[in-house]
Amino acid sequence: MTESWSPERQAAQNEQLQQVLERIRSKTENDTSSLAIFDLDGTLFDNRARTVYILREIADQFETRLPTLVEALDGFEDLSLIQYGVGATLDRLGVADPAECAFIQEQWAKRFFSDEYQRFDIPLPGAKSFVCKVHEAGATVIYLTGRDVNMLVGLTESLRMYGFPVGIVGTMMLTKKLFDEEDEVFKRNVGAYLKRLGEVVAIFENEPANSNLLKKAFPGAASFFVLTQHRPDAPALEGGIHKIRDFRIRR
Ligand SMILES: [Mg+2]
Repeated sequence: MTESWSPERQAAQNEQLQQVLERIRSKTENDTSSLAIFDLDGTLFDNRARTVYILREIADQFETRLPTLVEALDGFEDLSLIQYGVGATLDRLGVADPAECAFIQEQWAKRFFSDEYQRFDIPLPGAKSFVCKVHEAGATVIYLTGRDVNMLVGLTESLRMYGFPVGIVGTMMLTKKLFDEEDEVFKRNVGAYLKRLGEVVAIFENEPANSNLLKKAFPGAASFFVLTQHRPDAPALEGGIHKIRDFRIRR
């Protein structure tokens, strides 16, 4: 979170999120379909806790081999030290030895992109409640994620565990077929398919590149950019996209 948050901005967030629900309700009342697209990493979920858990596990397992990591995690309590990339995180933690870093990155990737660790992600404030409201209002909730199909089991488990609608009528999960496929290419290609399914009314993303391309693909949808973390080399966010801090609608 890099931008300041005022009561005015919260009021705007409340109103914009409410408008999405109202639009869905009115379409449902008229028997027309509506689709709401939610990204996962950095949008519905804060995945930094997954990385902390993994780094702790690696430090425990390879205690003698990784003394700097063990020391860095001793007393660790500041999630803001966890960066977008694990390399930058290790830098912030003071782990500098190239061989040590390479070994940690390899061990981290093996775990991070697997089924077993996604349950350590934490939903953003209000995320579960808002997605449930979107679903109850009658939209099809589409989870459109850069995670690949090999992570599907853990992904479903995590959503179900936290109470998100998943695997039931009015939900859809779209993962990448291949790990190596670029997220942006994947999200661009899926656009034509989504257009055939129905009207996209809302899009939630945390990557500026994805937000821009989905805004272009669905100009009639309300587009939201969640202020969490994103790629360091991201393009500027285009106009007409609402910035929100999380999914809370406060009275
Ligand atoms: Mg994301």
